[in-house]
Amino acid sequence: MALITKKIKGTEDVLPKDSYRWQFIEKVMREESAAYGFKEIRTPVFEHTELFARGVGQTTDVVQKEMYTFDTKGGESVTLRPEGTAGAARAVLEHALDNEGLPIKASYFVSCYRYEKPQAGRLREFHQFGLEEYGTQDPIADAELICAAQSIFDRLGITQLRLEINSIGCPECRAKYHEALKSYFAEYKGELCETCLSRLEKNPMRILDCKSPVCSKIAENAPKITDYLCEECEQHFESVQSYLRAAGVEYTVNPTIVRGLDYYTKTVFEFVTDCIGAQGTVCGGGRYDGLIEQLGGRHMPSLGFAMGLERLLMVMDSQGIEIPDDNTCRLYIATMGEKARLKAFELVRTVREYGIFAETDVVGRGLRAQMKYADKIGAEFSLVLGDNELEQNTAKLKNMQTGEQTEITLDEDFAESFMKLIISRIAEI
Ligand code: ATP
Ligand code: MG
Repeated sequence: MALITKKIKGTEDVLPKDSYRWQFIEKVMREESAAYGFKEIRTPVFEHTELFARGVGQTTDVVQKEMYTFDTKGGESVTLRPEGTAGAARAVLEHALDNEGLPIKASYFVSCYRYEKPQAGRLREFHQFGLEEYGTQDPIADAELICAAQSIFDRLGITQLRLEINSIGCPECRAKYHEALKSYFAEYKGELCETCLSRLEKNPMRILDCKSPVCSKIAENAPKITDYLCEECEQHFESVQSYLRAAGVEYTVNPTIVRGLDYYTKTVFEFVTDCIGAQGTVCGGGRYDGLIEQLGGRHMPSLGFAMGLERLLMVMDSQGIEIPDDNTCRLYIATMGEKARLKAFELVRTVREYGIFAETDVVGRGLRAQMKYADKIGAEFSLVLGDNELEQNTAKLKNMQTGEQTEITLDEDFAESFMKLIISRIAEI
């Protein structure tokens, strides 16, 4: 029979046999960010379109061509979130979280939707982990945020990841910079791609982010923002760097990093790798001092980053980093006859109450097939229950690897005895 449909282009399934990989990185991210004082925020997958249009910025690729936008039956325009920052900021404002004291530190896991050309490391539905911090303009916060990302990568065992930082200044220094860029790029009008031509007037800094080889070649010799920073922005950038040096975090200053979203000010940064091909940016972030006001809130300097989970897993794969899968079946109870089935049903339940993964037959297989299945799922111990065992109220617990057998009583202490056995075995290893 032919399948009636398949998954949408640019989306991926995570299968049961692979989900431990996601759970592992998510656990590390939760633990590390909790140590930095971040608490999780969960926001809806869709929002009013104007949130992203205003928040992410009209001149960005994301808003101009990548959003999944549609009208509801009620005639409202809504958009599937292309990123996590705008939704989190909206929620912080809507719930007036700033009344509870500053800074506010929030973390999130989100699925994001962008209508992009699917390729390795570039999907239409992808996942991000992000941190956002609201209500501090102090450069120490920028450095601390970068340290949090670095701690996550360190704990995951990722190497060959470069941290590149830049400052894109405040609206004042950027105005001067825009003028300089405009006159520089005006010389190349004939060569720039069409998108960049339209960027030239509205947002020339976007040209620096263009992925077309011709535009990026031209951009190489463009004026550098670092030469246009006002005193405050320059000091801020210097200070971020001195905190990073104090923390022993290695970085390089890359004046071409401008990030793809319009809300950034001052510090921007990326963690980049060469080991997964062209889509090598694993994490991007920075300061967005104007966003909260732009969304209708008071002046609240803020900052954040997001890392792409698919790209991160690709990096770990390419670096051969092993991810532990610790949910192995500890006990398989095979049965002969209906009475034994009933008993096994009860016994696995008591074992599971200890949080131990135990199984018994739920398919109606014969004994041989049950044992074959126990082997296939890699059960550590097995037990055969038949009339004899029920009569004597004991059974032989078999270590599936060594073949060693231990007697175990089938009474109310069964689960506890089994658990003790596992613990003593772990202690031996
Ligand atoms: P890129 O330059 O690769 O298009 P971006 O600047 O659009 O990235 P952000 O909006 O800052 O990326 O998103 C943060 C992170 O999310 C990226 O560094 C990347 O790891 C991940 N990411 C972004 N877009 C995609 C996508 N289409 N598919 C998979 N991951 C993505
Ligand atoms: Mg992009």
